Amino acid sequence: MWDLLQGPLQRGVLAGRAALSIPTGMAVAASEPPLPPEVMGEALRSEVRRLFRGSLQLRQLSAGSCNGCESELQALFAPFHDLQRYGIDIVASPRHADGLLVTGPVSRQLEEAVRMTDEAVPRPRLVIAVGDCACDGGFCRDSFAVHRGVAEVLPVDVRIPGCPPRPPEILEALLMALGRLAVRAGVARA
Ligand code: SF4
Repeated sequence: MWDLLQGPLQRGVLAGRAALSIPTGMAVAASEPPLPPEVMGEALRSEVRRLFRGSLQLRQLSAGSCNGCESELQALFAPFHDLQRYGIDIVASPRHADGLLVTGPVSRQLEEAVRMTDEAVPRPRLVIAVGDCACDGGFCRDSFAVHRGVAEVLPVDVRIPGCPPRPPEILEALLMALGRLAVRAGVARA
């Protein structure tokens, strides 16, 4: 999504109308370029094979998100990234899942649903917070209606910041979740 918007935003034009310009002197955030998706994908495939006999099933749980993070997760399963080819899929029932991908700050209305869904996931399980809202409440963290992220309700294994995080960042964080934090260093040395 950011790749689509950054050009128009930096030019100050969005859909033909003037957009907010970046204030003078403000540095544009530079992030480390992600590894090629295929490299991360192959590392994921081997970890999924080693830890989950080739099949990692996740339940996606929207806990008060704006749908932006879900769109990026959807993009991961679309033909370009095609996460299923590495053995990772989304399942409809938490009882069939090895872990949860949670988006949104956890609205108080959904707190009980989040707890009940988590209780239905067989142990041990992974809990992955996707997006700024899930990490710490994001832009609405001071609202009375939400928690300040998933960690206030469930023990979180991995946080993926970003509003929303891009598919390669989610891919890399999944790799970290599977204990392959060292893969970047390993590839860099190769
Ligand atoms: S992190 Fe951003 S994109 Fe994701 S749910 Fe929150 S506001 Fe929406």
